[in-house]
Amino acid sequence: MDAWVVARPGPVATRPLERTRLPDPEPGPGELLVRVEACAVCRTDLHLAEGDLPPRRPRTVPGHEVVGWVEALGPGTQGPPPGSRVGVAWLRSTCGACRYCLRGAENLCPTSTYTGWDADGGYARRLTAPAAYVYPLPEDEPAEELAPLLCAGIIGYRALLRADLPPGGRLGIYGFGASAHLTAQVAIAEGATVHVMTRSAAARELARRLGAASVGGSADPPPEPLDAAILFAPVGDLVPVALEALDRGGTLAVAGIHLTDIPVLNYQRHLFQERTLRSVTANTRADGREFLRLAAEHRPRVTTTPYPFEEADRALSDLAADRVEGAAVLLMS
Ligand SMILES: [Zn+2]
Ligand SMILES: [Zn+2]
Repeated sequence: MDAWVVARPGPVATRPLERTRLPDPEPGPGELLVRVEACAVCRTDLHLAEGDLPPRRPRTVPGHEVVGWVEALGPGTQGPPPGSRVGVAWLRSTCGACRYCLRGAENLCPTSTYTGWDADGGYARRLTAPAAYVYPLPEDEPAEELAPLLCAGIIGYRALLRADLPPGGRLGIYGFGASAHLTAQVAIAEGATVHVMTRSAAARELARRLGAASVGGSADPPPEPLDAAILFAPVGDLVPVALEALDRGGTLAVAGIHLTDIPVLNYQRHLFQERTLRSVTANTRADGREFLRLAAEHRPRVTTTPYPFEEADRALSDLAADRVEGAAVLLMS
């Protein structure tokens, strides 16, 4: 089958992705064989391609926002039958037995594995996935609009939970790509006032269209103090900026898996008055199910930039250069 692999992790200008042919994967016990219909391009794919996240195995197929159709079940697998539409997301497996898994925090499982990092992902015609970790998807929605929900949407929702936004609260969003534009819409639908700070003029325009109360440059102060903020831009320099924009008792959640260094913080300016700084690590399957339920209820407008499967490397360089509006999505022909 046709596939893309991370052949030489490095700057995107050095073309770390390589298009290749791989044998069709075979589903093992507990696994599904899934034919890929669409795969959204996540910033994490860029971090993997560029080597910010070190490879866990050589020549892995990236991609963890996969909309596809079950073609076969591995030996002894209980799961959706062939012909079912499923979503394959970032969290691929957890142990189910450690202290974190047992207390409902499987996102912190030390032996968790990830689609497109520990195992081949969706920049390919087919992939395998454990049946217990896929999500059922509606069969009548466009794949292009479902794919970004599977990481951009789910992780953004986890970040929103971690930001502890009070009902009807004031939420600041720093950076406005695929994840932020979905999170903002869910927050607004649930009653929040959302202020968006981002460097891209096109993204500011999109934020305004989607109902943001104000938009500004990436380090601009919002027009009112924030009860909560989410940092989507992978830029550590924005941590003190966002902390300073918080009201007393406010929380900043850092949504990315990778962040440049955070500058020295000043206790009085950035943390005193019980402001809280938190990270966000992956998601639980419960987060995924809850977000997909909310998305079905609120129907966020999913802004996408489609690319043919054959142009995955161009999608990645466009993402690196901020040339993508909403989510980049690879479509299988
Ligand atoms: Zn575990
Ligand atoms: Zn992702």
